[in-house]
Amino acid sequence: GLFGVPELNCPEGFQEAQDKALQESQQLVQKACSTPPGPETVMIFDQLSDSLCRVADLADFVKIAHPDFAFREAAEEACRNIGTVVEKLNTDVELCQSLRRLLADEIVMRSLDPETRRVAELFMFDFEISGIHLDEEKRKKAVNLNVRILDLCNEFLTGAHLPNKIDKHVLPEHIRYNFTAEGNYLQVAGLHADCPDDLVREAAYKIFLYPNADQLSRLEELLASRNSLAQLVGYDTFSHRALQGTMARNPETVRQFLEKLSDKLSKRTQKDFEMMTKMKMKLNPQNSKLMPWDHPYYSGALRAERYNIDPGLYCPFFSLGACMEGLNSLFSQLLGISLYAEQTQRGEVWSEDVRKLAVVHETEGLLGYIYCDFFQRPDKPHQDCHFTVRGGRLRENGEYQLPVVVLMLSLPHSTRGTPTLLSPGMMENLFHEMGHAMHSMLGRTRYQHVTGTRCPTDFAEVPSILMEYFANDYRVVNQFARHYKTGQPLPKNMVSRLCESKKVCAAADMQLQVFYAVLDQIYHGKHPLRKSTTEILKETQEKVYGLPYVPNTAWQLRFSHLVGYGAKYYSYLMSRAVASMVWKQCFAQDPFDRAMGERYRREMLAHGGGKEPMLMVQGMLQKSPSVEDFVDALVSDLDQDFETFITDS
Ligand SMILES: [Zn+2]
Repeated sequence: GLFGVPELNCPEGFQEAQDKALQESQQLVQKACSTPPGPETVMIFDQLSDSLCRVADLADFVKIAHPDFAFREAAEEACRNIGTVVEKLNTDVELCQSLRRLLADEIVMRSLDPETRRVAELFMFDFEISGIHLDEEKRKKAVNLNVRILDLCNEFLTGAHLPNKIDKHVLPEHIRYNFTAEGNYLQVAGLHADCPDDLVREAAYKIFLYPNADQLSRLEELLASRNSLAQLVGYDTFSHRALQGTMARNPETVRQFLEKLSDKLSKRTQKDFEMMTKMKMKLNPQNSKLMPWDHPYYSGALRAERYNIDPGLYCPFFSLGACMEGLNSLFSQLLGISLYAEQTQRGEVWSEDVRKLAVVHETEGLLGYIYCDFFQRPDKPHQDCHFTVRGGRLRENGEYQLPVVVLMLSLPHSTRGTPTLLSPGMMENLFHEMGHAMHSMLGRTRYQHVTGTRCPTDFAEVPSILMEYFANDYRVVNQFARHYKTGQPLPKNMVSRLCESKKVCAAADMQLQVFYAVLDQIYHGKHPLRKSTTEILKETQEKVYGLPYVPNTAWQLRFSHLVGYGAKYYSYLMSRAVASMVWKQCFAQDPFDRAMGERYRREMLAHGGGKEPMLMVQGMLQKSPSVEDFVDALVSDLDQDFETFITDS
């Protein structure tokens, strides 16, 4: 069956797997409630979580990726059923009591190792949000808020992607063909940000972002409800709760980080905007004021003018085989790890082009499995992604349960005589996703609740972004990039030009991300909000971004990440800052340094989410970085490399 699970050889098997898991979980709940507080309590909780996650996580993947509808449907059903049980468990007072007894017992708590203590606290954190520790009345309120928030999230997500309709006569005839016609109306489904026609981008921006009253009230209710729930369970704001246990730890640190980053960027951003304005003046002299709909287009145009990177020239050097060789060679030099293709059993994979890799350490042996679902197929989501299918954990019998993950990409198939060729962007994504996979494979946590990538959001992208630094380094690329026909290596200046091209207008791009992150923090900060969400957007945009707010628009209603990344939109920037520091301090001098690779594994990857993230960073860098260090790392990455610049001009 799928992933080697015997009962999953047909869609009906999900029912069986689910029933088994639910039965097992019932027994574990009883066991947890009858066990005196001690390290065993945490182990039972993790076992309980494992029995449910093993089916739910697997089903989570199958429901979106399996080509067979019946499988997808069965998986969806299993997800729903397990979700309901998890919700029940989260409000099970007796179960919660058994954990509270442990956390309240200072002597026992002190005797636990840090990982066990942290995992106990993390389980409690999950209980807390359902208000289980509160009196009857407040608990009811919490349950209602949770239900309401879930609905609002779904409605907001749907609303964020809905097109806006407009009477076609409002738009000049010569640009109407850019939008989908529907009788007398035109549908505007996006920003058309890369369209060369200024007027089309302007129209799309103003129409797509035209405020929708329902969506606006949904957002305002969502933010207010999140705030009420957070306060009900004992936090100042939603942001305070969301940032508990993260690298940033609290909203104040995030605020400082974003503020300092914005200050440091502002001059560079100004320069970028000036360049874009000049470019606009050249192409459109009548109307040269730089507007928000111009940013992506003109930064692209500047990049093209300066570097004229043609991905097609790079592709022949990046065959999938060569890239995988490159990863294998990098991992073996850095970590003593090799990737081996393994034969799959009948029914183990969901599509015949899925490959299974065994991850093997030179002395420790098999560490886990990566299923590579790399190729396009109809109905497959078009998004690069890493899925944990089974978390690693120490079993009761002393064996280690090996982690299993899936990497999903959307690469073109090979054709007769031509292997699958990756563009530079795809190659970088492959390295990025492999960074997540290695985090999963090398995490050796005792508990699956904190396996590999199950760590705080602002730390989760560190291993993957670090791999991007490797993917952009000539010494690494030169090990594997060979023309698939001639065997010629990729010329060095092509690699450096590619890297430099990414820095064009990168300050303005980062500034935009800072603006979004600040907005997210304010929305999830102190309530009631001082002003309407639109007024806050306007104010923040002018202060933190720099391009003017356009009246009668409300970009925040399209900010779908507010749902999944509420109060954590800054995470990507912070992860990048850490990855940048690790790269510069530990690998830039020698990207194949085994001692550094071992330190990286020991200090960062091995702990998954089982250790406070800042302690992992300190262990790796052997110092405690300040907010300024974070900011400097990000900003110095924007500096041009003069060698390339000079040889180029
Ligand atoms: Zn990622």
